[in-house]
Amino acid sequence: MGPLERFVGSASIAYFSMEIALDPAIPTYSGGLGILAGDAARSAADLDLPMVFVTLACRQGYLHQEIDARGVQHDHPEPWDLSAVARPLSAMVAVFIEGRAVWIRPWLHVLKRAGGAIPVLLLDTHLTENDRRDRDVADRLYGGNEAHRLAQEIVLGIGGEKVLRALGFSIATYHLNEGHGALLPLALLRQHPRPPSHVSTDMFPYDRERVLERCVFTTHTPVEAGHDRFGYELVGRILGRYIDLPMLQQLAGAGSLNMTQLAVNLCGYINGVAERHGETTQKLFPGYVIRSITNGVHPETWVHPAFARLYDRICPRWRHEPEFLAYADILPPTDWFAAHEAAKSDLLAAIQRATGQALDPSVLIVGCARRMTAYKRADLILENLPRLMELAGEYPIQIVFAGKAHPRDGDGKRMIARIADAARRATGRVPIVFLPDYGFAQARMLVAGADLWLNTPLPPMEASGTSGMKAALNGVPSLSVLDGWWIEGCMEGVTGWAIGTPDMPAEAHGAALLDKLQQVILPLFYKDRGGWARVMAGAVSKCGSVFTSHRMMRRYMSEAYRGHLVWRPR
Ligand SMILES: *Cc1c(COP(=O)(O)O)cnc(C)c1O
Repeated sequence: MGPLERFVGSASIAYFSMEIALDPAIPTYSGGLGILAGDAARSAADLDLPMVFVTLACRQGYLHQEIDARGVQHDHPEPWDLSAVARPLSAMVAVFIEGRAVWIRPWLHVLKRAGGAIPVLLLDTHLTENDRRDRDVADRLYGGNEAHRLAQEIVLGIGGEKVLRALGFSIATYHLNEGHGALLPLALLRQHPRPPSHVSTDMFPYDRERVLERCVFTTHTPVEAGHDRFGYELVGRILGRYIDLPMLQQLAGAGSLNMTQLAVNLCGYINGVAERHGETTQKLFPGYVIRSITNGVHPETWVHPAFARLYDRICPRWRHEPEFLAYADILPPTDWFAAHEAAKSDLLAAIQRATGQALDPSVLIVGCARRMTAYKRADLILENLPRLMELAGEYPIQIVFAGKAHPRDGDGKRMIARIADAARRATGRVPIVFLPDYGFAQARMLVAGADLWLNTPLPPMEASGTSGMKAALNGVPSLSVLDGWWIEGCMEGVTGWAIGTPDMPAEAHGAALLDKLQQVILPLFYKDRGGWARVMAGAVSKCGSVFTSHRMMRRYMSEAYRGHLVWRPR
């Protein structure tokens, strides 16, 4: 049997994502969405689920970030070697983009873990068969203009579905991780003409019910403005007459093609990524049933080895059943501190290597790393710098930032520059470090080595957020605005702390953040070590045990992927 054959007969669920963080050597992800998809894949392998994952082989990666002395981000491509991590498959399929046939070759990466292995198909367009213009379609994640983006979504949705058929997969359930893959159910629709006897109330010559029962859609965007949209003129030029325009307008919106709208109209199971996000999405789409499955992170990937050794001692089954991490709270403070010290010294060494700056291991480190984009408000803690400096005179504090701004996100880039400027002004009072090129490896170090994980999104913009979950697995409590997953995870003073109250105006969050630091968190950290160890234990046993991708994937299996129980190939 070849490397693929063993999966072809058994994988019946296909997971589609524009980005998947599989490995630090495969930098085809930009942030949380890709990390989530990667954690889903790792759990699927651990749990030996019958799944295949499909994504683009962006050979130029997403963005290698360089920050200069003035805090200006310089964008570079991040080329990587596809042939080192995947092998080309012989099947090729073509899709039509702007009237030209664009060939796609899938590459197979096998993600192996202790529990099992799953296939990941990376779709490549860098082929001599293709017109020069088309070779780069899948080269740079989220690169190029709108036309380029639509072309990428054609390759993912329409091309990915074709590739699975060409390879012989018999897929019962398709899971779209965000709307980028929403052309896939459209491709399915064309394969299910309505039987002549079928009575239907809508105008479609297709059997929409059959598509609905096979497709699952997870949305990650809490606001209307965040949805991918394409004007129909552009769609006509790039996609051609793939499907009748009035019908497409009925499915995807009259004025422009809204990928989220298209997905909700063709997927029978729709969910948000945290309870609050499900509710927000329900308001955007009244008349549809919107459920929620709260995100989670892959335990073994995000637990620092020093903590893994502790958990192996107390609850050895945690790798397969992370719910058992609930037992970890019986560990004594000395164990928590020793493991954390190891994680913190790894972080300090990494910071020294990357920036030349030496932080003090005895001083509290606030970790704040995320995509640098306006709604995340990463620099909120610096809003009142004089007060922060004064506070640090009483209780010393150090801050580590990291995060990439999308090359075209001017607000995000200005945020990085503001952080650099504040770092200069706070010199000698509050050490502020910016760790460049935030990615998988940097994140692993940061979420375990910081003492406190800070999250300051503008509600309700944080659909879920996951980095605080990674921190919790390492006994690092969160200080976060009540949005996304933290509404479910926050037990004040037990698992971490909230910034402000749910109904507080967002402009008051900056002051509330410093209040909580000054009045509660810093005194606890410096004056009540036993109390601090209890919060570390609370973070692991109450959040770390729950917000895992194992739980998330088990829920998708039992609640969302039910199509594969009823669907039979015809
Ligand atoms: C976890 C992670 C994210 C997502 O973090 P949020 O808390 O959702 O902002 C982004 N980038 C990397 C590299 C990560 O590991």
